[in-house]
Amino acid sequence: MSLSPLIALLFPHLSDLHVTNITRTGTTLQIHAATQQPTAVCPCCGSASTRVHSRYRRHLLDTPISGQQALIQLQVRRYFCDNPECDRQTFAEQVPGPTSPYSRSTPLLRRTREIIALALVW
Ligand SMILES: [Zn+2]
Repeated sequence: MSLSPLIALLFPHLSDLHVTNITRTGTTLQIHAATQQPTAVCPCCGSASTRVHSRYRRHLLDTPISGQQALIQLQVRRYFCDNPECDRQTFAEQVPGPTSPYSRSTPLLRRTREIIALALVW
């Protein structure tokens, strides 16, 4: 049985990623994943780019899984913007489900924390 349908069912916010491995270190589950999109859109000018500048790994905390801390080790790419009129020369790709610019946690974890914080206020 392939893990992809199971991962998409249990973690819909990760369905656009290619999950390569899941390991456990102590009480932390590490989900190793990479993006699958062949292009990315420059956030400055909106031009699509296929020319990869470099790759790097982002570390994103996610909601706990069965009481274990979840950490997504996501490999993302930095692209060249080939539009000569654009102010940016390179930009990092964003994955709509698990990432947002400069964040070290998933939007799902941030929403969960906000709900808990608001419940504690009332
Ligand atoms: Zn651009």
